[in-house]
Amino acid sequence: MKLIFEQSVPGRRGLKLPIADVPKAAPLPDNLVRFEPAQLPEVSELDLVRHFTGLSRRNFSVDGNFYPLGSCTMKYNAKVTENAAALFAGTHPMTALLPEGDTSAQGSLCLLLEVSRLLAEITGMDEVSCQPLAGAHGEMTGIMLIAAYHRAKGNKKKYVIVPDSSHGTNPASAAMVGYEVITIPSASYGDMDLDAYRAAMNGEVAAVMMTCPNTLGLFNPHISEICDIAHEHDALMYYDGANLNAILGKVRPGDVGFDVIHVNLHKTFGTPHGGGGPGSGPVGVKKALIPFLPGPRIVKHADGRCGLEKDNSQSIGRVANFFGNFGVIVKAYAYMTMLGREGLIQVSEQAVLNANYMLARLKGHFDVPFDQTCMHECVFSASRQVKQGVHAIDIAKYLIDRGYHPPTVYFPLNVKEAIMIEPTETESKETMDAFIEIMIEAARMAETNPDMLHEAPITMPVGRLDETKAAREQNVCFG
Ligand SMILES: *Cc1c(COP(=O)(O)O)cnc(C)c1O
Repeated sequence: MKLIFEQSVPGRRGLKLPIADVPKAAPLPDNLVRFEPAQLPEVSELDLVRHFTGLSRRNFSVDGNFYPLGSCTMKYNAKVTENAAALFAGTHPMTALLPEGDTSAQGSLCLLLEVSRLLAEITGMDEVSCQPLAGAHGEMTGIMLIAAYHRAKGNKKKYVIVPDSSHGTNPASAAMVGYEVITIPSASYGDMDLDAYRAAMNGEVAAVMMTCPNTLGLFNPHISEICDIAHEHDALMYYDGANLNAILGKVRPGDVGFDVIHVNLHKTFGTPHGGGGPGSGPVGVKKALIPFLPGPRIVKHADGRCGLEKDNSQSIGRVANFFGNFGVIVKAYAYMTMLGREGLIQVSEQAVLNANYMLARLKGHFDVPFDQTCMHECVFSASRQVKQGVHAIDIAKYLIDRGYHPPTVYFPLNVKEAIMIEPTETESKETMDAFIEIMIEAARMAETNPDMLHEAPITMPVGRLDETKAAREQNVCFG
């Protein structure tokens, strides 16, 4: 595919600007004026349309194909939520700062408050701030809240405990806020080793960060006990709720004993993600942490109007411009209200059912490190295929040739040759069956024609990349 600059032909035009019908502005100073014409591609509208349509076809998206990324919930996002967000697109964020009495931002402020209320209800927390812009940002905000809580109480805290199966953002968030991280190994049954946890707990632990179900898709049966042990040492329990797909309407982390949570609207709550955003990672807290929430908090006045809380000296301050990624929050509002209570419960039931279906149908063909009922995602290992010289990465690349986005591979780190699949609730049995057939085909090919897997992908504009180099030295141009 030719770059748009390479298609340029002098004098070709796709657009003609109208003659200016306003007076010329005062002349600009010479150092700001361009004397040479800008080097822009000169192409027709049709050239341009074909160029961008061609590029968009090379983009893999859930609108086009099945996207079984574990840990990431690439579910289909109903287009109606986009319409909802568009309703608010004309509102300038500064509107919320207009003097009291101006009603222009009432709808937006009340919506933000309502989303906070709904998320608090779903997670079992007392209050939620929608400011954080992503999951990792929500985590960092949550740990900052925990640090503020301990500071206010005069607690001397130094450590944050995370299990070894945790998402990498957990230890990173704790470290960024200045804590030392203690990592607890997984026991043979896949959950955090309880004895090692007990041994690591002490009065200097500020928080325990957990994902439950964890990144192996397993729900920890000892979770209440883990919370109790933390609370005995005034350590707070942090719930990484990036992915609530398994427990929506079933379990509320706040009821189990968690004190702080973040949720990813761009995973569980039906708003698109990928390509670096925009995301939204609201953070919820129990009563004791409300004073520290990012400000200004949105409050409801006695007369029913929504407004901004006046000074709050204990707040950790703003963590985002204005009120976070507002458009994403509107989409989540549309998603939650459209589905309602019963609908949200159905989401988690279907998500868990789909993952277990995947597990049941594929476990004869791939090794299963923890053979038990899973939650919203299931983890296989390609260790059996390794004996034929085929690795998880080869299977992942082969799936690309067959029209599927690869599942997550080599994560969680505590499973060798991990292949982690999350079908999500929005995929039909037919779609899953078609994917399962290709996975089985890959497993057979590992035995009969492993080289075919080593060569994949062969249908893409680029073949195997140096994954490390691609991540460290990004160059998105090709050709
Ligand atoms: C995705 C994810 C995160 C990070 O969320 P981002 O929005 O990508 O920053 C954290 N924890 C878990 C368990 C996740 O799945």
